[in-house]
Amino acid sequence: MSTDVDARLSAALTAASSDRIVFDLTGIEDQYEQLRRELPDVLVRFAMKACPVDEVLTCLADRGAGFDAASPNEIRQALRTGVPVERIHYGNTVKSDANIAEAHRLGVRTFATDSVQDVAAIAAHAPGSRVFGRLATSGDGALWGLSRKFGCSRDDVVRVLDVARAVGLTPAGLSVHVGSQQMTCEAWRQAFDSLGDTLVALCEQGIVLDHVNLGGGLPALGYLDRHGTRLEPPLDKMFAVIRDGMEQLRTVNRAPLDFVMEPGRHLVADHGAIRAHVYRLTSRWQPDGERVHWLYLSSGKFNGLYEMDQLGYRLVFPGHFDGKHVSAVVAGPTCDSDDAYGSGHQPVPVPEAVTSGDPVWILSAGAYATSYMTQGFNGFSPLPYTCVRHATFPARTAMTRGN
Ligand SMILES: *Cc1c(COP(=O)(O)O)cnc(C)c1O
Repeated sequence: MSTDVDARLSAALTAASSDRIVFDLTGIEDQYEQLRRELPDVLVRFAMKACPVDEVLTCLADRGAGFDAASPNEIRQALRTGVPVERIHYGNTVKSDANIAEAHRLGVRTFATDSVQDVAAIAAHAPGSRVFGRLATSGDGALWGLSRKFGCSRDDVVRVLDVARAVGLTPAGLSVHVGSQQMTCEAWRQAFDSLGDTLVALCEQGIVLDHVNLGGGLPALGYLDRHGTRLEPPLDKMFAVIRDGMEQLRTVNRAPLDFVMEPGRHLVADHGAIRAHVYRLTSRWQPDGERVHWLYLSSGKFNGLYEMDQLGYRLVFPGHFDGKHVSAVVAGPTCDSDDAYGSGHQPVPVPEAVTSGDPVWILSAGAYATSYMTQGFNGFSPLPYTCVRHATFPARTAMTRGN
C-alpha cells in the first residue's frame, strides 16, 4: 500500500518535534487557482469555518477570494486580511438583532436569509441591504447533509424575498448548499433544477435576481471511507454538471446572473496534516471473547479529528514502513467513548512495532480541524499550527508502507 505525501507537508511533518497541525499554503493557493480554472466565472467566498487560520485566509484574499462569514467575529477576522468588505457576505441564516447591527456597522451589505422574521430583523438593523434566499436541499449523497436546519421551499423563498422587497431590502440572490463532502453529481443536478424553478417563479412576481450562490459541498480527495477505501468523488463530472447548470440558469433569468460559491473543505482539507504521536498500541479481549487491538493517538475528536466518526484518515507511521501490521481501532486520548473511529469502521493496519511516543502523520486533516478543537477537554490543549509555503523539494515523494 503506498501513500503519497506532498513534499512540503512531509518535510514540515518530519521537522516537527511535537504535535501540531501543518498547513501548506502553496497547496491551498494551487487548489484555489485550480478551482478558478474549472469555474472561471464563479466568485469564490471561502467558508471561514472550514479553516479560520489568519495565514490561510490572507493567502486566499491576496488571490482574489472573499469570505462567507457566519458571525461578527468571523467578519472581523476576514477584514484583518485586508479584503474589501464588499467581498464578505453574512452567509448564516441564524443571527440575532445585535449580530446583524454589528455586521452592518462593519460594512457588510449582503445577508443570507430563509425566514420573514430574519428579513424583518435585517430591514430594521441593516436597512437597504441585499439579501439572498436560501433554498433547502435534501442533503442526499453528502457525508454531512445540511438539510434540516437551513433553507426553505421554493414557494416559501419566493414569499420571503417578496417580503424583503416590501420592507426596502434588495432581493438579490438565491443560495443552496448540496451538503458537505457531496459525493454525487445528482445532488448538483437537483439543486440546479430547484434553482431554475425558483428563478422562474420569482420572475413571475417581478423579482429579478442578480446572482446565485452555489454554496459549499465540493469534496476533498484524500479521505478514506469507514472500510479504509479511498473516497473517489467524481470531481471532473461535478464541475461539468455545475458549468451546464450555470448555463441553464442564465437562460432562465431575465437579467445577467453572477455566480458565487462558498467552498470550505475542498480548498483546505488535503493541504493540512496533523503530526500527532502514538500513546499506545494495546490489545484487549472483549466480553464476547474477541481480541481487539486499539491504537491510541495523542490527537482525536476534540483536538483535530472531529470528523473521525464519519471519515477514515490516511495514517503514516514514519520509520515503520516494513514489518508486521495488526488491525487496530483508532482512538483519541480522552475519556470520551466517541473519541474513536465509530463502530461502522473497519480496523486499520498499524505496524506492530510502534511504541509510545512514535510520531504519526494524519493526512487530509486540514478542514474543520482548528475550528472544532475544544479548549482543554480532559486537559488536552488545542493543537498549535504551522504554515509552510513554496516547494523547495521535488513535487511529490511517494512513501511505501509494507503490509
Ligand atoms: C459550512 C458552509 C460552507 C462550506 O461547506 P463545505 O462543505 O466545507 O464546502 C459553505 N456555505 C455555508 C453557508 C456553510 O454553512
